[in-house]
Amino acid sequence: MIEVLRLGHRLGRDARISTHCGLVARAFGAGGIVYSGDRDRKMMDSVRSVTREWGGPFSVRHGSFRSTIKNFRGTKVHLTMYGLPMEKKIREIRKKRNLLVIVGGEKVPGELYEKADYNISVTSQPHSEIAALGVFLHEYLRGRPKKRFKHARLKIIPKERGKYVKANSSD
Ligand code: SAM
Repeated sequence: MIEVLRLGHRLGRDARISTHCGLVARAFGAGGIVYSGDRDRKMMDSVRSVTREWGGPFSVRHGSFRSTIKNFRGTKVHLTMYGLPMEKKIREIRKKRNLLVIVGGEKVPGELYEKADYNISVTSQPHSEIAALGVFLHEYLRGRPKKRFKHARLKIIPKERGKYVKANSSD
């Protein structure tokens, strides 16, 4: 089971990035995302609406980062450009089954580096929480993301060209 914790959401500034963290987490098979920082119902509802259309299960909730980390039973992986290179640690992390993948925001509290079991970088260069999350999950799952989404109203039938979206009556 994979959970994602997105730190320090800011109302009015981070809606798009936080939404995309949720969408990436869901698409790659995480079971849910927790947002710390400002509570933003609209942003969380936009992630939930994708789950309603395209399937789940995928939970979306707001929570404090300290209690989320404290209560999590499993391995905590903090993605940060200052951490150890992903390619050096990914084999070891793949052996862990319950993961909390933590991505930061504008400011990351220093205590996080101590509380995480792993501080992992996806290249030792600054970029984005969305990219770091996507690349890390892709590597953790060996490029084989979750395929089955339950209760999806819509399903893409892959095509070489054009678009084919099938409407499901039940799944
Ligand atoms: N200045 C922030 C800090 O103290 O780390 C980073 C801000 S960055 C815009 C937001 C988040 O993107 C980071 O907290 C981290 O989760 C992720 N991130 C950015 N570059 C990364 C990298 N090279 N490897 C892993 N994660 C990265």
